[in-house]
Amino acid sequence: MAGTMLSIGECMVELMQAEGDMLRKGYAGDSFNTAYYARLFAPTDWAVDYFTAVGTDAVSDEMLAFMESTGIDTSHIARIESRMPGLYMIHLREGERSFSYWRSTSAAKLLAEDPNRLRTAIEAADIAFFSGITLAILSPGAGETLLSELRRAKASGRRVVFDPNIRPRLWDDATRMLTTLEAGARAATMVLPSFDDETMHFGDASVGATIDRYRALGVEEIAVKDGGKGVTLQFEGERLHVPAVPVSRIVDTTSAGDSFNGSFLARLAAGDSPADAAAFAARVAAAVIGHHGALVARQTLAAEGIA
Ligand code: ADP
Repeated sequence: MAGTMLSIGECMVELMQAEGDMLRKGYAGDSFNTAYYARLFAPTDWAVDYFTAVGTDAVSDEMLAFMESTGIDTSHIARIESRMPGLYMIHLREGERSFSYWRSTSAAKLLAEDPNRLRTAIEAADIAFFSGITLAILSPGAGETLLSELRRAKASGRRVVFDPNIRPRLWDDATRMLTTLEAGARAATMVLPSFDDETMHFGDASVGATIDRYRALGVEEIAVKDGGKGVTLQFEGERLHVPAVPVSRIVDTTSAGDSFNGSFLARLAAGDSPADAAAFAARVAAAVIGHHGALVARQTLAAEGIA
């Protein structure tokens, strides 16, 4: 059955060291990466829609053109004349990556300023995805606007999916971070947390404890990602472990979680069982961490038997 998946958040310009002082430009961000992998693997009669705000400058035009070239629908994206996209640079020093960010005045921080635009996009979606990074970049008031629209979607029976993606550097206050993440989970019907983050910030002693905590917040569908240890699912009242796919050489773990999220949701949209969708998503994530960059090309994945 045809449908629409919507991802909400910030896509940034990515500058990566190429040769010497040359930089290569790309576009990435957790919610956008998730949309990218959802588009690769969702049924062709599903639309994958991205919601953010960009500027009216040339780099914003190029970013939208890139999104459209991947088949992602950009028609709900706001354009704000006084703002530009955020940007980050990846530094490589002796194989170690570090990041510099210029995002404190990005257009995406204003994505929830027009509640009507947000409502129109969310009401058109069968599955709406957002993350803790989406919440982190918004002012408290704008975050509440987004959450109240998502609560409406949850109340009307749609799937609302939240990846807490905990990034303390993006929050000025640790207590507000934890309470806002809990509010994000309460607005969701499904959460896709990473155990590393959850144990560090919520003190969960085990994957089971993470699942129990989210169930207590009213979330019915849960997939806890645990790197090379695989994923534990809680769906329809049952708990099930799906192993990771062994990777012979890890090249770049960027987007492991995002590629898992996008391909998992794509396969659920196609009607797969949660266990089958998670097994497929584990294959995609394993292939993605065997390559450089957040967005691995369809042909590269196809050459490894993933289609
Ligand atoms: P995040 O990137 O959000 O922290 P994880 O590290 O848990 O998330 O990884 C997400 C998914 O990527 C895992 O569920 C698994 O499928 C895959 N993955 C990550 N690390 C490995 C690994 N070392 N070996 C195989 N698969 C991995």
